[in-house]
Amino acid sequence: MRFEVLILGSSSATPIYGRHPTAQLINVNEQLYLVDCGEGTQVQLIKYGIKSNRIKHIFISHLHGDHYLGLIGLLSSMHLVGRKEEVHVYGPAALEEIINIHFLHSQTVLRYPLYVHATQDESAEMIFENEHLQVSSFPLDHRIACTGFRFDEKKRLPTIDRAKTEALGVPTAYLPLIKRGHDYTAPDGTVHRWQNLTLEPPFPRSYAYCSDTVMTPSYLPYIRKVDLLYHEATFLHNMLDRARDTYHTTALQAGEIAVEVQAKKLLIGHYSARYKDLKPLLEESKTVFEATQLALEGSWYSV
Ligand SMILES: [Zn+2]
Ligand SMILES: [Zn+2]
Repeated sequence: MRFEVLILGSSSATPIYGRHPTAQLINVNEQLYLVDCGEGTQVQLIKYGIKSNRIKHIFISHLHGDHYLGLIGLLSSMHLVGRKEEVHVYGPAALEEIINIHFLHSQTVLRYPLYVHATQDESAEMIFENEHLQVSSFPLDHRIACTGFRFDEKKRLPTIDRAKTEALGVPTAYLPLIKRGHDYTAPDGTVHRWQNLTLEPPFPRSYAYCSDTVMTPSYLPYIRKVDLLYHEATFLHNMLDRARDTYHTTALQAGEIAVEVQAKKLLIGHYSARYKDLKPLLEESKTVFEATQLALEGSWYSV
């Protein structure tokens, strides 16, 4: 099952050096989820061949412009191309007012149902689930209310042990039942336990998204042991004071967090405009956490 992240925007506050404000697309089993929607996100979607009509759920971390100023444009375009399917937006409570005021004054009546779900930054909560996936929000520590998001794959059904079922001549019609825990009775009356005809499914994977935040222990419990951790790394560690003042994280700290929470892999992004060359950020994080990668626009990262 596919579980991958496409980086659409990797810059912090301003677009620079061809980098765009924050946005990411998560593909879980060919269902697309958008996380943050900085200015120009819809242009980036077109650039990377993603049809926005495939996006049904949009998660906004906080109301700094570099994380949501592309949202109205994207929602407007969905309306203009005649979308009928509903859209769900999850974000801080004031987001609904912001969206409504735009459409009120442009006298736009959306052609599709739009549902805005308020998140809160007091505690973690599950905000979405379907048969494959569960999404939770959790509080980060930023200048304004801000949440991270955690995407957890659900435990899958066991897979059929084909070698065994074929050797026993189990008719294919029985296979979905065996996967769901039904034993198979052969024509000679022998009962074959479903456990003996199946293999353990792969362990469920998880992805956590942390942007923007100062480094504190408060949110670490929510991102423990994720397979892939995206963490902002706005500055190099020689700018630690500036990072603290602006409630951001350094590349070294992002690496330390990945170590602390026992993440398997780390993706860093939200780069300050002062860094044209990103290599020093990568190298700094790698001094403590080797499995670090730079979030590069247009690249897919598997969870
Ligand atoms: Zn930001
Ligand atoms: Zn911010």
